[in-house]
Amino acid sequence: MTRDQTFVIVGASLAGAKAAETLRTEGFDGRLLLVGAEDERPYERPPLSKDYLRGDVARETVYVHDEGFYAEHDIDLRLGRTAVDLNTSANELTLEDGELLRYDRLLLATGAEPRKLAIPGSELDGVLYLRSVEDSDALRERLDHGGSVVVVGAGWIGAEVAASARQRGLDVTVVAPGAVPLERVLGAQIGAIYRDIHTDHGVRMLLGDGVERFEGGSAVERVRTRDGRVLDCDFAAVGVGVQPRTALAAQAGIAVENGVLADARLQTAAPQVFAAGDVVNAHHPFYGRQLRVEHWANALHQGPLAAQSMLGRSDVYDQLPYFFSDQYDVGMEYSGLAVDWDRIVVRGDPASREFIAFWLSEGRVLAGMNVNVWDVADPIRALIASRRVIDERRLADPDVPLTALALGDQAVIS
Ligand SMILES: Cc1cc2nc3c(=O)[nH]c(=O)nc-3n(C[C@H](O)[C@H](O)[C@H](O)COP(=O)(O)OP(=O)(O)OC[C@H]3O[C@@H](n4cnc5c(N)ncnc54)[C@H](O)[C@@H]3O)c2cc1C
Repeated sequence: MTRDQTFVIVGASLAGAKAAETLRTEGFDGRLLLVGAEDERPYERPPLSKDYLRGDVARETVYVHDEGFYAEHDIDLRLGRTAVDLNTSANELTLEDGELLRYDRLLLATGAEPRKLAIPGSELDGVLYLRSVEDSDALRERLDHGGSVVVVGAGWIGAEVAASARQRGLDVTVVAPGAVPLERVLGAQIGAIYRDIHTDHGVRMLLGDGVERFEGGSAVERVRTRDGRVLDCDFAAVGVGVQPRTALAAQAGIAVENGVLADARLQTAAPQVFAAGDVVNAHHPFYGRQLRVEHWANALHQGPLAAQSMLGRSDVYDQLPYFFSDQYDVGMEYSGLAVDWDRIVVRGDPASREFIAFWLSEGRVLAGMNVNVWDVADPIRALIASRRVIDERRLADPDVPLTALALGDQAVIS
């Protein structure tokens, strides 16, 4: 019987909203609260650096559910409410305004927040970050005015903001410490392809350099780099990574280590408390270690799995990491996880911007990225999951179906 139980979800974004939806579809008929610090009902963040930022799609398209969904499903959505204290011995959560909520199960879906630069001038007006729809609106207003922007950081957010700003006709300079954009994930060889894509679109890529300070009166007017460059700008957009929002868990004494630690069912060491999405560092059965993933698909799928666990089911979260990115007319999907690899195999011609790259270790595929090639993410995942040693020539050959390789078809085509 769950009717007399109360489940509370902290964090009204993708992971939290999908967990709430799943609890209802799985028959939870108790009291269900979804508490969110933001004033907006749950929305998706990927459009905030892409079509929504450019003004190509309306606000209505970013929401996870229709406006009426929460009331229709008897989900008590508390927006603009921040949870400030969690007492796991008393099963109590306190909100900023003093309201105290008793729970039988609690889900932490508090996500992540941008890392902030602590350099001179960081506080100047026009030094912008991007996480929320409000941030995206502020950035879009700047794009509407045109001019020049310095993008600090060449990770996914920096690269997408640079592309969107360029597509809106701004003069764009990217400053980043790596030798190529996206270096940490893609490595030098494949990252160089993205460098060229941006350069071809007229972005000035200042790589191997960093921002030393922002300068200006009350608003940023220029950026000074470590290599002594002085870059005039109308505003700056900073994308230097995110950190998990773990304060609530840490204050409650729940173990935190690069995120809230959880087992493969997304249950924390506090038995009634679960965690999902960007905030959780959960045991991943495929990798045999803790893993924290900062991607949309992870929040989308972990929310429902956490809901199942809250209902006492024993499924584990074992989906392989997956993310996507769109920059200009180049769309990509990346599946798997490559940290250390000894080989990269490319299928197709990167110059044509239609190819698949595979990261391998000892002949096994760790990750694959399809660029402007579609409907291959499932076979790529199967290839990774198979852990088979793959013939590199056949992997590189577009005529050999990936599914066949995943199934162990190593026949040599003459
Ligand atoms: C601009 C942008 C573009 C992105 N593009 C892509 C992409 O192309 N592909 C991809 O795979 N991923 C992308 N991502 C990442 C993806 O959006 C995240 O992985 C996803 O949003 C994580 O969802 P979440 O629900 O775990 O956390 P979040 O979306 O971070 O939401 C957490 C929520 O919890 C709330 N909260 C935090 N603390 C409290 C508290 N104490 N009390 C109440 N509420 C609280 C926050 O206000 C927030 O609303 C992008 C992210 C951004 C910002």
